[in-house]
Amino acid sequence: MAEIRSPLVIPLFIAHQGCPHRCVFCNQESITGRQGAASQPMRAAEVVATIDGWLARSGNDPRRAVQVAFYGGSFTALDRGYQQELLAAVQPYLEAGRVGTIRLSTRPDAIDAATVSFLRTHGVGVVELGVQAMDDRVLAASGRGHAVADVAAAFRLLREGGMRVGGQLMIGLPGETTVSALTGARALAALAPDFVRIYPTLVIRGSALAARYAAGAYRPLTLWQAVARCARLKAVFDRNRIPVVRMGLQPSPSLERDLLAGPYHPAFGELVLARIFFNRVRSLLAAIPADAIRTLSIASADLSIYRGQRNLSVQRLAALGLSSRMQLRLDPGQPRQTPRLL
Ligand code: SF4
Repeated sequence: MAEIRSPLVIPLFIAHQGCPHRCVFCNQESITGRQGAASQPMRAAEVVATIDGWLARSGNDPRRAVQVAFYGGSFTALDRGYQQELLAAVQPYLEAGRVGTIRLSTRPDAIDAATVSFLRTHGVGVVELGVQAMDDRVLAASGRGHAVADVAAAFRLLREGGMRVGGQLMIGLPGETTVSALTGARALAALAPDFVRIYPTLVIRGSALAARYAAGAYRPLTLWQAVARCARLKAVFDRNRIPVVRMGLQPSPSLERDLLAGPYHPAFGELVLARIFFNRVRSLLAAIPADAIRTLSIASADLSIYRGQRNLSVQRLAALGLSSRMQLRLDPGQPRQTPRLL
């Protein structure tokens, strides 16, 4: 059987250029790590050099799909001529079959029918929408400058254009509660995104949120609140068979340098997976009579998320008196994330 390999994603970071907004949490330079990007816009030559470099390093494996991804900023809010320059630089690779598709991220209110048509004729196949929240109050308090209705409209237009559509959600935005976050996740799931990313809200130097935080007007989630909330949102998407492809921001030196407060952890996604795993194991063990011992079988590859960071989950099971009810069995053939009693 042919080996299936994950696609090679060639990242190109654009920042702030053309973005008409300043969301309260945003200092895009810190998030993308592209310092001074506003004064030094990426040009076509940089696009070409980056793609060539990645293709050369990847060994041009024909079995591997290749995507060029424009991350950061709001691509379709850029000047159309500049969008044209960036996308045109990728066209020779698409025509030669060396790149399969282009993906980009943008704001929901920067999508209309003409934009979808433009993207489609330039080989864009995947669009990630910065949804952030599905609650108009939270969107307003976060300075997003768009409403939930814009999200639904953008999904519809992109789908009609034959694109795959992803949604980025944030947790811990001003005005959000656990209930509103869960309601929002269900509303996004109802739009059937092809995939979702979930990011905790962080207080970044230079953002409007930093000023609110300094004035005591905004309190970020603690790390454990964010992990628990993210786990509940992921469960919503899991139930709807919508892949959650990332939880937590990509660690970078610039992000860590400008981070003032908030639930940052370089392995945030692992913490969430460990939390979900712990919840499942706890439910299984709690159903065993206190004087019985059963075998708990887990995938061998899940041992570290079973243990949790610094063995925390194992310690919590012991503190709850549940460890003594089971013997652990590692099964190399068991699917991941499926603890079960034998
Ligand atoms: S729309 Fe995106 S780039 Fe613009 S301020 Fe908001 S988060 Fe930053």
